[in-house]
Amino acid sequence: MTRPPAPPRFPVALDRMHGRARPAASQTLRPQAPLQHAAQTAAQHASGRATPSGLGLDSAAVRQRMVQRLRADGVRNDAVLNAFAAVERHRFVDSALAIQAYEDTSLPIGLSQTISKPSVVARMLCLLGDGATARQQGQLGRVLEIGTGCGYQAALLALLGRSVVSIERLKGLHDKARENLVGHRHVDLRLVYGDGRLGHAPRAPYDSIVAAAGGEDLPQAWLDQLAVGGRLVAPMQDAARGGQVLLVVDRQPEGLVRQWHDAVHFVPLKSGAA
Ligand code: SAH
Repeated sequence: MTRPPAPPRFPVALDRMHGRARPAASQTLRPQAPLQHAAQTAAQHASGRATPSGLGLDSAAVRQRMVQRLRADGVRNDAVLNAFAAVERHRFVDSALAIQAYEDTSLPIGLSQTISKPSVVARMLCLLGDGATARQQGQLGRVLEIGTGCGYQAALLALLGRSVVSIERLKGLHDKARENLVGHRHVDLRLVYGDGRLGHAPRAPYDSIVAAAGGEDLPQAWLDQLAVGGRLVAPMQDAARGGQVLLVVDRQPEGLVRQWHDAVHFVPLKSGAA
């Protein structure tokens, strides 16, 4: 005898709501691509057609599912995966978008900026973790982040580094990140308002430098502030490829060594503060 289908249960667990299409390996990583999707969901919420709230967004199980997807995609760094399991991404985005917080999508954070997709953030953190100092110490050491945004990646970095300085050029986002990070337990996290192209000399040198915005060139200050054994990961325009790529720079005792990795699509690195 076959059993009758189970009646639908509401609310539906968040981790059962969305299937996931895996991007083709060669596809450009686009942290901003699903903005339109996010806007549609926000509109649905506004019109009352979306799934009701209260879906257990604070559930560790939902985050764990995101971590499983990252692992299935090849993320092998346990410290990075543990950080993703620990930080509540939905608390860093607008409540109308919280339902999408654990999908592999970028989301708007205001002032025309976006929080990157988890898979892109994981890729950058893993590249940083492969740096010489991080390999020796088992963590990212002294970290400099350019582009605090909503503070999500800063919260991850704070679990992976010994100390973190994160710079944001937009006052509105700097203030928002400060609010979002209240109550987070951090060893040593300093949020700085200013032009990240200048780095942050008072706390240099850094073992790990990561930029969340992409420029045409690599600011000299970042190279000057990179410790020997340290690694820098930044999206950068690559004239030869005609697009942005992730650039990795290692400061070895003999000098700087550059490697170009995945094609990406980050918001622009701008000059000055606003
Ligand atoms: N890591 C962020 C992502 C932010 S998006 C997060 O987890 O939310 C990139 C950010 O870089 C934007 O907030 C943008 O304002 C900022 N940015 C761009 N140019 C900058 C600069 N020169 N200095 C500091 N921040 C910059």
